[in-house]
Amino acid sequence: MPQCKYGDEVTRATASARTTRRHNAKQCACYREHTTDNAKNATTTPTGETLTAKVDVTSDGGEFIDVQTTEKITNWDHIFKKFDLDPEAFVIEGDSVRMSTWQQSKALEDGTRDIVNLYSYRARFARKTEAGINYAELSDIVRNWSPVTVAKGDNPTTYVIGLADWQLGKGEGDGTPGTVKRIKQSLANIIEDIHSMQKHGSLPSTLLLANMGDHTENVYSSYANQAYTADLNLREQINLALELNLLWIKTLSPYFNEVIYTACLCNHGQLSRQGGKTNMTDDADNATGLIGDTLQTLCKLHPELKHVQFMIPQDEMITLATTSGVNVAMAHGHKISGPEPAWLAKQAQNLAHRRNFNVDIWLLAHKHHASLVDLGPYTRIQATTNDPGSKYYEDMSGMYSRSGTTVFVTGEQLPGKWDHYRIH
Ligand SMILES: [Zn+2]
Repeated sequence: MPQCKYGDEVTRATASARTTRRHNAKQCACYREHTTDNAKNATTTPTGETLTAKVDVTSDGGEFIDVQTTEKITNWDHIFKKFDLDPEAFVIEGDSVRMSTWQQSKALEDGTRDIVNLYSYRARFARKTEAGINYAELSDIVRNWSPVTVAKGDNPTTYVIGLADWQLGKGEGDGTPGTVKRIKQSLANIIEDIHSMQKHGSLPSTLLLANMGDHTENVYSSYANQAYTADLNLREQINLALELNLLWIKTLSPYFNEVIYTACLCNHGQLSRQGGKTNMTDDADNATGLIGDTLQTLCKLHPELKHVQFMIPQDEMITLATTSGVNVAMAHGHKISGPEPAWLAKQAQNLAHRRNFNVDIWLLAHKHHASLVDLGPYTRIQATTNDPGSKYYEDMSGMYSRSGTTVFVTGEQLPGKWDHYRIH
């Protein structure tokens, strides 16, 4: 299997599909090295004889013009192959096919002449697009996992990790490969932190792995040139997000007695758009919800992951978790309007009255930089990100941020109910 861009293990399931498709569509950088593959494909018996043919190819498809043949075309594979195009990568647009036919006199071997039918075709074709989750590959990743045997934490506290704003598929800077590298580095740093806490006997017994949203970039209408800069399509983004989330769950869960995975609906995750940024359906139609639901299904496949509790919202914009006696309210942050402290105060009032939930910690994301504010009744922690940064934001504000993953520990007995605030 050619490996054009990503060769790394964690991206294997996603990259191989993408790589193969790009390779088949001759979009990959290595194309010239694989012309022999295409020559092999051309051995299929063609239908009739193709006399003349022209093709115009564009980035999303093309058109066959003046294809003259001696037989009716019932299968276009040999025409694609004539132009070194992989028939698997394209589909003929049925309603675009135009055919004309005429008869012509042809000399036979015995010196006599015969009348033959000739056909001329014109047809448009489109590059195939795919949608869906690589469930078979992802379930293999879970089923074939052999967990490490490690001592579990026993402190009556919770280790909170904010997985925020990865925006996988964002092509800016070093693009998705850079983001994946930083995400894995953060995980390695966190394992080191966990080992150090183990040594000091302070490792919490509970893990709160908080998907803070925007793990996928989406491909359309979040900003003007998104479709041209994204380096993964939406299927690839969602599959990669699932693989990476699984990696975090599998790597970290052996260290904790209790594991809670939460998710927050977000702006980049808005699916089923129609021209604008928002859903044409409802708030529940969100990539983070889909990722959470799928992870929940996948984790049931392995006995060592069955204890992972999932809190995946339907259309709620604030996700609530009470862990080690501390009430944590989590929101992506895109719904904040007006000054943030006022919005937090109003929402905290609402949660107290309608849900009987008194917020101790607000955990937010969306702004791509680390920040912690003590607001009195509660502390607001804003998780930072491992994304490649934003030229737009830096041009506008001069600001940029240290990339990483925000962690902290919560516990009822801790001053302010939190401690051990770190960026890994
Ligand atoms: Zn956001």
